[in-house]
Order: sequence, then structure tokens, then C-alpha cells
Amino acid sequence: LVELDEVTKRFGDLTAVDGIDFSVREGEFFTLVGPSGCGKTTTLRMICGFEHPTEGTVRIDDRPMGSVPPEARDTNLVFQHLSLFPHMTVGENVGYGLAKAGVDADERSERVSEYLELVNLDGFEDRDPTDLSGGQQQRVALARALVNEPAVLLLDEPLSSLDRKLRKQMQVELRRIHKQTQGAFFYVTHDQEVAMTLSDRIAVMNDGRIEQIGPPEEIYREPASEFVADFIGDTN
Ligand code: ATP
Repeated sequence: LVELDEVTKRFGDLTAVDGIDFSVREGEFFTLVGPSGCGKTTTLRMICGFEHPTEGTVRIDDRPMGSVPPEARDTNLVFQHLSLFPHMTVGENVGYGLAKAGVDADERSERVSEYLELVNLDGFEDRDPTDLSGGQQQRVALARALVNEPAVLLLDEPLSSLDRKLRKQMQVELRRIHKQTQGAFFYVTHDQEVAMTLSDRIAVMNDGRIEQIGPPEEIYREPASEFVADFIGDTN
């Protein structure tokens, strides 16, 4: 679905991403985890098409990224920092992409209600997003990104601005929402606990390279390097 083949990104002398390979499969919850500055956001930005690899190829649905115009890409993004439109209602926020795609008002309103229900915000259509709590705003952002059913949802530290309790609650919700939708989630975080809890597979990144890819249990049981063992918190 998403495939990175020997992808390198340099900024001048600095190699932010150093020849990485991985692929995200249909419907899976895939997490890229690693310490601050290891190259996670740069990787995500190449998958979104905001940055171009210095070397290597990013493919989505077997098509090299550069050959697909932005509006034809089957990916959506939820950022670390919320980016709801403050002058629109919750319903208008969620329906924004559908309106842009020319979906008529009746169908739009049906889909908006359906996705607000999915994120446990039934009946919030006419609310002002600035009156909502951080967690509720994050759910609106999720509904907005999911409403046009992207093949891949890209999530960049979406829970990091929430307090601990809410973060735990949203982890459970994210897992449920992922199961209820058909799409793949590509999740980026420095929080190994979140990665271990949510993911079908994890890629552990360090200093621009991928150290190990696998299901959480396997990474925990058989870390491929000392770095992975330390980072994942192997207490044995
Ligand atoms: P964090 O978790 O702190 O967001 P990260 O793992 O996402 O970190 P990146 O943001 O991908 O890391 O950064 C990787 C390296 O590339 C860092 O050393 C960063 O300073 C550098 N870098 C990122 N973007 C640019 C840029 N546009 N120009 C120059 N250097 C950059």
C-alpha cells in the first residue's frame, strides 16, 4: 500500500533519513517509533509528498509518489497540533473535504453524522469547535480525516498534546476506530508505550535508520539490537 524503497533524505550535510525500506499493508496499524530527531517526521513528510527523497522511491498503491497529483492521493493526515477551522461548525469541519470533492449536501450530512458517531461525538454537528475540549477537538480532526475513507491515514503524534488520562482513553478509542474502518493507519510517535499498545507492526527508528520491524511481541521478546532493547524498555 505504502512502500519505501532505499529512501534517503539529506538536508545539506545532515542525513535525516538513511536508506530505509518498509511497507505498510492494507488495513494494518503500522507505527514508526523512535527518539526525538531520528527522522520520523521527515519520513512521514515524504509519504505525504511534502518532501522529496534525495534517493530512493516512495510508492503508494504501486505508483511512485511524484506521479500522483496531491488531490488524487489516497492518504489523509492528522497533525500533532490541531488544525480545525475555527470559523466553521464541527459539521462543516468534518464535511470540508467532501464539499471540496463535490459531494452533495444530503450525502455530506449523512456521512458527517456517521463519522461523528464513530468518534463518539453524535449530535455535535452545530457546535463551535473552539468550545470543545482538547480530546473532543482531536476526535473532530480524526472524523474529518476519516470521512472520505482514505486507504491510509497518517497520524503524527496526534495524542501528544493531551493529558495522560485522556491520552490513555484516546489510545483505546483509536484502536477501536481503526478496527471499525477498513483503512491502514500509519502512526508516528516517540512514545514506545503507545506504539506497543496500538500497533499490528512497529518499525523502530534510530539516527535515520530502521533498526527492526515486527509485531510488538516479537520486538519485545527478540530485540534486534541493544538500542531496540533499551528503547522498548526490556526489563529482563
Ligand atoms: P521529533 O520526534 O522531535 O519530531 P523526528 O524523529 O520526527 O523528531 P525529524 O523531524 O524527522 O525527526 O528530524 C530528523 C533530523 O533532520 C533532525 O536532525 C532535524 O533537525 C533535521 N531536519 C528536519 N527537517 C529539516 C529541514 N527542513 N532542514 C534541515 N534539517 C532538517
